[in-house]
Amino acid sequence: MKARIAVLPGDGIGPEIVPQAVQVLEAVAAQYGHAFEFRAADVGGAAIDKTGRPLPEEALTLAKASDAILLGAVGGPKWDGLPYDVRPERALLGLREQLGLYANLRPAKLYPMLADASTLKPEVITGTDLLVVRELTGGIYFGKPKGIEKTADGERGVNTEVYTTAEIVRIAKVAFEAARRRRKKVTSVDKANVLESSELWRRVVSDVAKGYPDIELTHLYVDNCAMQLIRNPKQFDVLVTTNLFGDILSDEAAMLTGSIGMLPSASLGGRVGAGGRIGAGGRIGLYEPIHGSAPDIAGRDLANPIATIASAAMMLSYSFNLDKEAAAIERAIVRVLEKGYRTKDIQSPGCTLVGMKEMGRLIREGLGSV
Ligand code: NAD
Repeated sequence: MKARIAVLPGDGIGPEIVPQAVQVLEAVAAQYGHAFEFRAADVGGAAIDKTGRPLPEEALTLAKASDAILLGAVGGPKWDGLPYDVRPERALLGLREQLGLYANLRPAKLYPMLADASTLKPEVITGTDLLVVRELTGGIYFGKPKGIEKTADGERGVNTEVYTTAEIVRIAKVAFEAARRRRKKVTSVDKANVLESSELWRRVVSDVAKGYPDIELTHLYVDNCAMQLIRNPKQFDVLVTTNLFGDILSDEAAMLTGSIGMLPSASLGGRVGAGGRIGAGGRIGLYEPIHGSAPDIAGRDLANPIATIASAAMMLSYSFNLDKEAAAIERAIVRVLEKGYRTKDIQSPGCTLVGMKEMGRLIREGLGSV
């Protein structure tokens, strides 16, 4: 197959890890006879430095003209003092908004050989295999009114948590469809004991569940969920939640698996199709690691490229229906970890410490392509 892939490396470790994932995709294309065309553009701080804007027209046009997008990460201390509407992170919000990417899928699966790399006891986390489905284009990150205003005795900062029935229905469907392809359990996370928007969320998710009698639905308050994720993560299959709660809980889930450097994500739009396929209907999917630009380790060959490489595998599966190729990448990652190779963030005694580039090369070698 032929596909056009927009490559948006961003800032910090982004320009280091993204080429590793691109090289893996190139290796897959060569091995399986596909033609991927890669075209790159600046976003985030790198784009601000050149154009003054985090999401220049050129990057947005490129993204819209592509079949899928591979993104690194944006942001860093250099741009922290800028007003919010021109900060690097606006590039992500802009892409999500412009491309209608309302569903963020963040799988958190523990590779058994990394059980020791987590700060939690191996017996607690072994067997963890969950999927966070985070609503991505609504909630408090987009709700209005928002801003900081002067008052008689200082200032007042406002953000608004807002969800409509339609927004909740479509993300709930993504979660139920995903659960159908997994262990058939959905946990909806809200704060319905305090927030009206959550009260609506809970009611609408319960209504959608009526169309999925084969799926077991439970509701949890977000504070309890944060606790349960640490106490007994194995109880969860699919977690569906709002933009803000999903942002926080998916980072927590990441730590169950040892390192934030391991976890991929897919941001999808479009209608929910048969068999849980979303991203159909000509919508563009965006694939990125869940971590940020890690300025503390940037430029030192220390970053773990696995989250980005696994994001490329999600792209193959969700955007291109290339499940066999995606599975080949996942197997290559497992093989390299089984052989005991580790980047610094997942290093444990007795394992071989490698840098980011070497980890990327080993994974390509694991594909049988080097
Ligand atoms: P971060 O995820 O960048 O880093 C948190 C910690 O995890 C750091 O110690 C970092 O070294 C480590 N880490 C992250 N990715 C790693 C990897 N691949 N391998 C090894 N270690 C890794 O979060 P932060 O420090 O809160 O944010 C740094 C910058 O990134 C900020 O400007 C923030 O706004 C931005 N950010 C961007 C995104 C995104 O682009 N999607 C997401 C989160 C944060």
